[in-house]
Order: sequence, then structure tokens, then C-alpha cells
Amino acid sequence: MTSVADGAPDEHEIPRLLPAGELTNFPPPERWDDWEEYDATAWPQRVRRRYRLVPTTCFNCESACGLLAYVEAETGKVRRFEGNPAHPGSRGRNCAKGPATINQMYDPERILHPLRRAGPRGSGEWERVGWEDALKDIGGRIGRAIREGRHDEIMYHVGRPGEDGFMDRVLRAWGVDGHNSHTNICSSGARTGYALWMGYDRPSADFTNARLILLLSAHLETGHYFNPHAQRIMEGKQAGAKLVTVDPRLSNTAAMSDLWLSPWPGTEAALLLAVARLLLEWDAVDHDFIRRWVNWEETLRERFPDRSLGYADFVELLVETYAPYTPVWAAEECGVEAWRIEELARGIAEAGHRFASHTWRSAGSGNLGGWQVARCLWLLHVLTGAVGTKGGTSPNAWDKFVPEHWNSPPPHSRWNELLWPAEYPFAHHEMSFLLPYFLKEGRGKVDVYFTRVYNPVWTNPDGFSWIEVLTDEDLVGLHVALTPTWSETAWYADYVLPMGVGAERHDTHSYETHAGRWLGFRQPVLRVAGERAGNQYHRTYEANPGEVWEENEFWIDLSWQIDPDGSLGIRKWFESPADPTKPVSVDEYYGWMFDNSVPGLPDKAASEGLSPLQFMRKYGAVEVDRDRYLLHEQSVDAELVGLDGIARKEGAVVGVRIDGDVVAGFLTPSKRLEWWSPTMEEWGWGEQAIPTYLRTHVHWRDLDLSGNERILVPIFRLPTLIHTRSGNAKYLYEISHGHPLWMHPRDAEALGLETGTLVRVTTETGYFVIRVWRTEGIRPGVVAASHHMGRWRLDEGSGNERWSSALANVERLEDGRWRLRQVGGIEPFTSDDPDSERIWWRDAGVHQNLAFPPHPDPVSGMHAWHQRVRITKAERGDRYGDVVVDTARSYQVYREWLRLTRPGPGPDGLRRPLWLNRPVRPTPDAYRV
Ligand code: SF4
Repeated sequence: MTSVADGAPDEHEIPRLLPAGELTNFPPPERWDDWEEYDATAWPQRVRRRYRLVPTTCFNCESACGLLAYVEAETGKVRRFEGNPAHPGSRGRNCAKGPATINQMYDPERILHPLRRAGPRGSGEWERVGWEDALKDIGGRIGRAIREGRHDEIMYHVGRPGEDGFMDRVLRAWGVDGHNSHTNICSSGARTGYALWMGYDRPSADFTNARLILLLSAHLETGHYFNPHAQRIMEGKQAGAKLVTVDPRLSNTAAMSDLWLSPWPGTEAALLLAVARLLLEWDAVDHDFIRRWVNWEETLRERFPDRSLGYADFVELLVETYAPYTPVWAAEECGVEAWRIEELARGIAEAGHRFASHTWRSAGSGNLGGWQVARCLWLLHVLTGAVGTKGGTSPNAWDKFVPEHWNSPPPHSRWNELLWPAEYPFAHHEMSFLLPYFLKEGRGKVDVYFTRVYNPVWTNPDGFSWIEVLTDEDLVGLHVALTPTWSETAWYADYVLPMGVGAERHDTHSYETHAGRWLGFRQPVLRVAGERAGNQYHRTYEANPGEVWEENEFWIDLSWQIDPDGSLGIRKWFESPADPTKPVSVDEYYGWMFDNSVPGLPDKAASEGLSPLQFMRKYGAVEVDRDRYLLHEQSVDAELVGLDGIARKEGAVVGVRIDGDVVAGFLTPSKRLEWWSPTMEEWGWGEQAIPTYLRTHVHWRDLDLSGNERILVPIFRLPTLIHTRSGNAKYLYEISHGHPLWMHPRDAEALGLETGTLVRVTTETGYFVIRVWRTEGIRPGVVAASHHMGRWRLDEGSGNERWSSALANVERLEDGRWRLRQVGGIEPFTSDDPDSERIWWRDAGVHQNLAFPPHPDPVSGMHAWHQRVRITKAERGDRYGDVVVDTARSYQVYREWLRLTRPGPGPDGLRRPLWLNRPVRPTPDAYRV
């Protein structure tokens, strides 16, 4: 018996299932196999329900928090998701998006079966297809391309990876350089800035122990790893830390801050350099750290040979370099009062080693030269010595654990110029958003194109150009959309293959949430609960809803179809170690990983009488270690130390000699922190080789602010929506379904606009029509709209979910421009879920990215999102949600920005500096032209 109705309750006294106090805590893990509690929704009846609690990992942003699925024992259905208290990163806490996983699982609009296009691409005509047929067709086509040497025509384009290493392994096994990502429309700007300093591309801030926390992001609600970080930022604040936020918009984070600085977009680096100047002026710097860890000797020797070679000369050089960045000058340039800049500098000086910071998207992703913002931010850490310290900020990789994967293939030795073109040798990730233009100008074609949890038509700039190439079968031969939800891009696929949401798949991952390391294990909760109940499954789809697959098994089975007889040498990487005539199982795959490559896990498991795999299935995560500080100072064994101080062992660089000790150092060629980057100098970017301020493409002085020009900030996230995957999460859309253009009252007055006025926002390539919201929560001269909304579907009965999308037409106007026009808002509909008839919100929002041309930064490759726009009242015939775009003009803009590049090859015929990392890194010979 799993539920009991006990009759009406006494109003004041409710019999407890557990002693007082215990229900206020998480259910104890020893009772997760059989947990009983009252059903809150049955009130006033007292109904007991029994559950199996199965841990998994949230897939609804990059934070990978732990979730605990409450699988009802009687029905086998998941009733809700809560936090997993055993997860060291999230510690039992989630944001609204985690529990909304339940909506995604049971959404009546969900894709439950594989679909194949039955008419022209984009016609919306689909037929159901069996998985086996789909795998054979796709695998056969990839196998043909590989046999014919067309490896570069296979491309896997990922939005939310949600895993560490599985797909890298697959692509290495196939021997293709086909990994494409969304990173250059997300975070490449800041990553480049960090990587040039230290070889690591992100920070890991120790917020809990900090005394001053500086955020160039809306970190409390939407930054990278924001829920795990937010809880630690609040712990730091409770312990007395000051919180400072730099953002032109009054985000929730800015509202919670001790100091909110609202500079002109794109001037953030100037503000940070003014702080650096003050720290130098006050001598509030850690000289011992700088002397030991900055490449100052190399800088003076190679770049400033006319100066003498002492440390004091380097300090003098720093002082001279940043002397022009006075607070008064910065106040004028940034539009922030000088006293606020001084207050920030004073806070950093007082915090010393306990200064933690983070920047994510925001300035680094909005501006031409945005990568320098991270360079200038890290400069403050270098000056104060708050690098790797308790309460300071470390390189991200110190606090991230990536286990070895089973039976890993060697690196491939190819270089795909559609992804890594000669013009962008420093691009931090693939030039993904330029693919339409590369295809149009004949740089190549794609024979098999996977979009995987990715929606470039909607997410990338200039989506109409994506539609143009996705509907051209000469450019894209076969488009396979692997997706848990419908998307604007899946509409233009040949196959739409339903993949599991976060509670329906296996993955491992780990992120830099604090000064420690952990490994999370995502698992299909219905399968695991079923196995606990004694059921046996051959494959995860047998337990998942409909015919929803998990990706691990998809890629394993697809690899068999590519190479059914093993002659390509691919199949061997996917054979079961127990029986090579069968594909490897997920239990074998992760069993090996947990047995062999997670330090401490076998012992922890053994102490509970479990195998490592059983332990991970029980808890969903394991802590690897904690309190990881000052790793650059760790001693290392070396066989040889060169005159340059670089230490080697078995031919590999392992560290650097500092003051007589051989220690680990950083990942740069000098193993030090590179204030001056010799690599940038050698590759022709000498004038930008130090942390400096670059003028953005949306600089306020270039705008006609007394007229109708403004800066559009289009990249802020809403805390409760999931990029393009909230469409099937009704809880989330009930919370967030408005999409106004933020505008300061001063601008609204000047332009004659009220809240609700319909305006045209005109970019270089087109315009969109949206309503104004007057608010003092934004800097005058700047307008902003969240990047989440404006979802559309082209058919009433299929395509994007009706909880979130407007019915729309996409058409070409007589003058050749494209137009998206909404023909209906969100309406209630009838489905198996009675809530669909209770929908009360109507606004699907306005899509803006379609109207943005590509702005590839010539160094980082990051798309510079901010826009210089004109704002005028809507014209006769305009409708809310209209987007009109000239893609011919977008192509011209692409060519204009391409002219800013300084193409490789660089020294020694290299396509890219060897030491700069890249995804699915090939062998070194592939780096040479
Ligand atoms: S922060 Fe929210 S959406 Fe992101 S992983 Fe955690 S619970 Fe999921």
C-alpha cells in the first residue's frame, strides 16, 4: 500500500510521520529507497505517499545542480524534483528552473517519437520513423563521408553540453574535427582575456571567504554556476564581505549590492584600469607576488629593452602605463562618479588577498574588444596577489574535476577551417555563428549537421541567414536535430530526434563552484527507480517516456552504424569489454570510470559496502577534495630546468623555478602570469598585448544621443527562463512572460514615449517592434531587453510549445527582406494537462537576435552583442513582434568585421598558438598549415 486517506485533519495538530524537526530537513539517504510523506496537494485529506528518491543532475543551465526525483512507488511517475543534499556544489538548493524539470518530462506538447521530414525542408510536414531506420540512414551517410575522406563535412553543433568528455571521445573515435559549440555567442570574450593571462580561461572565485566581491555580471540570479555561486556570495556577505556590481542595468544582483556602478556599456575596462592606477598610487599591491609570478623580466627584456632590468623598473612601467587612467578621466569616460571608483578601489585594497571577482557574458560578450575587460579585471587580482588565495580567485580548472573516460581514442589530426578559419587564430572557440557566411561564400559544405540542444536560428545573430543555409540542401546535406524540445531550428531539420531531459540521461560533469572539486552523475531516474524495483532494462529508452533516448546510447549505437563491420576502426571504441559483439553499456562505461579514475570514490563506496557505480547511483555526486588554494606554488618533480627557468620531465613542461624552488605555475609558455603577452606580439597584436582599454563598437561618444540613437543591451537573462528550453516548462512561463524594452524616464521623455508605447528599434540590418517600459533601473542612454523571449511557431498544431510561443509567419517581402510577423499570441489549449486550459498569459515576447548582424571580435572571435540602435515610434502597419531584416546587408557587415582581422598563419606556420587550448584538441601537426 502506498497511499492512505486518513480523513479530515485536526486544524491544529497534524500527526507527524517523523519526530519533530526531521521533516524540516532533507530525507536521510538511508531512507531514499522507501520514503513516505503526506501529499501536500491532497489537503485537507491526509494522504500518505511512498516514493523512491533518485538523485540526478539538473540540465536547465550550466550549473549542474543536484536534483532529487520523487518517483512514486505505486505509479512509477515522478511527482516532483527537489534539491539533492549530497551534491557538494548546490548543497540541496536549486533555482526555480530545477524543479521545473517535472514540466519538461510530462509536457503534453513534448516530442516523444523520432520524426523525419516528409516535405520540403521547413515545410512542417513530418512522419514518424523508427529509431533503427534513423540510425541506419544517418550512420550510413557519415560512414560514406569518412570512407570518401570528407571528414570535414561532419559537424556536431552543441548548445548546452551538460557533460564533460563523452562527445569529445566520440568525435576522436570518428577522427573528425567536427566539434562546434555556442561559446562564441556566449563567453569567449572573457575566456580569451583570462587565457592570455594564465592559460586557464575562467575564474573560480572563493566567494564564501572573500571580503570584497566584485561582479561584472548578474551573478546572484543568472551568472555562470549562479545558484552554487549565489549561495556562497550570500555566505560571504553574511560574514561581512562587501558586494560591488558593475552593470548598466539594475539587476537583482545590483539591487542586493553595497555599491552599484552603472558605466556606459563598453567602458568597463577603463573603470577597472582606474582602480589599478589607484592601487598602484597607494602602493596597495603585493610586490612579492608580482615579483614572483608576473613575467616582468621577460617583458622588460623582450618588449622594453631600453629600460633597465630590475623589478623596480617594472613597477615604474606599470605606474607609467596606467597613469592616464585617473578617476576623474574614468568618471568622464565611463559616466560613473569618481568617488564610486575610489570606493571600489579602497574596498579591493582593504580586502587584499580576500578579493573575489567574476565576469560572465556582460561586458566581455557585448563589445568589440570585450576580452580586454577580463584582462583588466584579472590585473586587479595580480596587483593585490588575490590569486589562488583563500577568499581570492583561482583558475577554474583547479576546482573542476574531469575523470578519464573509458577506452579513450587518441587525438585526431585534422583541422576544419569552417570552424577554425585562418582569420581568427586566437578565437577561443569555433567561429560558429559565421557558418552561414562561410557556406555562402563557398568555403565548404556540411554533409551531416547535428544540432544538439541548440537553436541557432533563434539564438545566434541573424537567424534568417541560418534559415537560408539550412534550407539549401547543397550547403547542408542532412540536418539532424537532437533535442528534448521543439525549437525554431528543429523546424528546418530532416530528422528531429527526441532526447532525454536532465532526468532521463547519463552524464558526468563538474564545475568550479567553490575551492574544491566534485563529480556529479546525471542519471535517468525512471530507469534507476525501475531497477530498484527489480525491473531490467537493456536501454534507457525502455524506461523513458515514449521513445525518448538518452544520448550516450544514441552515440554508441550510431557509431556502430557508421562502422558496422569495424573496418573503419571506429566500432572498436564502442564495443562491450565483456562481449565485443555487442555495444558497450552505460553501466560498463561509467562503472569503469568510477572504479578507475575518481580518487577516493572506491574507498568511500567500500565503506558503505557499495561498488563505486552503486555509490554514484545512490548519491548522484561525490566530493573529490576541498580547500584547494595556491596550487601554483605546489612543488613538482622535474628532470631538467632550463636557463629560462622552465622545468621539464620526460620532455613535458611541468613547472617553473621561482626563487630556487621548482613549482607548478600556470599554463602559459612562461608558466607565469603574462602581463605582456609575447604570443600576441608575435602574432601581430603588439599594441593590445597588455591589459588595456579598447574602444567598443557602441561607444557613447559615437552616438547621436541628443537624437534617437541609444545603446541596446540585449543579453541579460531572466532568472526563471532557460535560454530556448523553457518552452515546455509551464511553471516558468507562468512566472516570466513579459518582454518590455527597458528605458530610463529621461530617454522616454526625450523621445516622447510612455510605458506601453510601441516602438521600432532599428539596427544596421533591420528592426523589431516592441513596447517600452519606463524604469529608473537602467542607465540613461542605454536600453535593454532580455534575450529569452520572442519564441515562435509556424504551425498551430506542431513546432514550438504553445505555453510559450506565438503563432507567426516567416516570409520574404517584395524587396527581398525577411519578415517575422506574429499572427496570434499565447492562448489556452486543450491537452492531457488541464493546466493548458488555464493559461492566462498572452505575451510571447519579441525576437531581437534576428535583427542583429554578426560582429565577430577579431581577437577572441566572440560575437559583440551590443547594438547601436535608433528608436522611433512604430509606423503605420507595424505590429508588436514584427522583425524585418535584410540578410544581404548582414553579409556586408560580416565582411566589414572580417577586415578587422589579422589572419594567420603565425610563427612557424602555425594556424593557432600551440599553447592556447581548444575543444577536441588535435595532434600538434594539425596546427601547422
Ligand atoms: S542553477 Fe537552477 S537551472 Fe541551473 S542547474 Fe541549478 S537548479 Fe538547474
